[in-house]
Amino acid sequence: MDEKMPLTKDCMWKAVISCNPLYDGLFFYGVKTTGIFCRPSCKSKSPSINNILYFANIDEAIKAGLRPCKRCRPDLAIKRYNPYLENVRQIKDMIQNHYDQHLTLEKIASKVNVSPYHLNRMFKNETGETPRSYLEKVRISNAKKMLISSSHTIAETAHQVGFLNLSSFYKAFKKHEGTTPGNFKIKQKG
Ligand SMILES: [Zn+2]
Repeated sequence: MDEKMPLTKDCMWKAVISCNPLYDGLFFYGVKTTGIFCRPSCKSKSPSINNILYFANIDEAIKAGLRPCKRCRPDLAIKRYNPYLENVRQIKDMIQNHYDQHLTLEKIASKVNVSPYHLNRMFKNETGETPRSYLEKVRISNAKKMLISSSHTIAETAHQVGFLNLSSFYKAFKKHEGTTPGNFKIKQKG
């Protein structure tokens, strides 16, 4: 272990087992048995205390013959890489693929293994909107396509894009489009 290390071993060990993102950039840890090194926040399985190595920076880890973890990408500059963006991308993909189902915050959160509270906060911090409002946007955008191109009734459309009842569909549609689904359909059909 390097004497230049700004933190105690005990402190770093605690950061690693709790995947604490506050320590990202302050040190890196490697695992002797796998030959991989990670950021403290990496969600990969915590190593055994006997196999862990600590590094003050990436160069030291690479010099020691370790490879960067594909999951937390310690080799990318800290400022450029934001692990939350990856989570947000996953959540967006998930919403785009399952918007027609009954999606709750809990369901979305469980897919990316975070608490609903954390999901909401993280998503909002990164995108400026809540997962719920993003889901609504995706549903309305698909509803518009359906209203234009299919012979579904408005009620069928609402159901197909995941709204549980017509009134919430009308409310959301009006909020995003400033008009009713019926008027939208008429205008589009000319
Ligand atoms: Zn990692």
